[in-house]
Amino acid sequence: MSQIDRILKSVRENHRLTEKNALELFQARGKSVWDIALTADFVRQSMVGDAVTYVRNQNINVTNLCVNACGFCGFSKKKGDDGVYFYDKSEIQKRAALAASRKVTEICTVSGLHPDFTIQSYIDVYQWIREAAPNVHIHASNPMEVAYAAKKSGISTKEVLMAMKTAGLGSMCGTAAEILVDDVRKKICMQKISTDDWVRIIKEAHQLKIPTTATIMYGHCETELDRVKHLSILRDIQDETNGFTEFVPLSFIHMNTPLYKKGLARAGATGREDLLMVAIARLFLDNFKNIQVSWVKEGVKMAQLGLLAGGNDLGGTMFEESISKGAGAVNTDYLDPKEMQRMVEDIGRKLVRRTTLYELFPNR
Ligand code: SF4
Repeated sequence: MSQIDRILKSVRENHRLTEKNALELFQARGKSVWDIALTADFVRQSMVGDAVTYVRNQNINVTNLCVNACGFCGFSKKKGDDGVYFYDKSEIQKRAALAASRKVTEICTVSGLHPDFTIQSYIDVYQWIREAAPNVHIHASNPMEVAYAAKKSGISTKEVLMAMKTAGLGSMCGTAAEILVDDVRKKICMQKISTDDWVRIIKEAHQLKIPTTATIMYGHCETELDRVKHLSILRDIQDETNGFTEFVPLSFIHMNTPLYKKGLARAGATGREDLLMVAIARLFLDNFKNIQVSWVKEGVKMAQLGLLAGGNDLGGTMFEESISKGAGAVNTDYLDPKEMQRMVEDIGRKLVRRTTLYELFPNR
């Protein structure tokens, strides 16, 4: 029996995957990749059954003006750059009302760190969205925005989270995690919050009953060990708080990013790596019910394969997407549920509509 077979047998017998074993799985080549995917599919089936969920959602990225300059970001602009935009109240409300008319249940808003933003700016945005789309769940911000609002307003991150929740924040995005290893963060996003700060703010959110997603951005200059360390941090947080709704692997879109153009990152993850990321997440994150495959980052065909390797969620319909598009991704604006249904039924599964917090709709 090979070492990988031994690890997979142990997982099937309900033993928790160690970091060492996860690293060995990330290094798999050849047929072992399929064996890992198959085991992840088995675990997915026994944990959450055959449904593949999705949420009807729309993004409103309020501005691309940002004080930071993360190396992997093709979205942000500086004052005076071509293509800088900023949505005012009327534009935000127009887009929120349009979202409501499309029967979305979630509006997702994450933006650049605008030089003039304070906590009040985030509060205003949530309140404007609530006025224009009163019944829509607001999934917004991330630990970086929370830290930024706290710094700009001279208050604690906990106070920011409380104010955001009062203003209508229903759940927070677990983005800005990238890779939770500070040496890597220094290379790809120097100005971003540290690993410790990301973890602290996420835990604060969970303590305040603000659920969050969890993400990883991989396929740039991190090592396999960095990925394992990242997953281990997420698993520890989930053991403590149970506040993560899902894990979302985000495959690095390289084309328009400074990191890639300067030769500091490779051209994204390979198909093997995309598949293994979903599968190993399913096996390692034994306390996460939901593993999402991102059709925006991976493309529809690779996302479908991810559903055969441990994934059980397709994310959102989107209707509007600009962050991955800025980095060079194509076809990111909207995925029709009919197309999702085609992908899902093609692999013998059933598409089920959900809310942001995974309440299921009786009819798709
Ligand atoms: S990733 Fe976010 S914080 Fe970093 S430059 Fe882009 S918009 Fe700004």
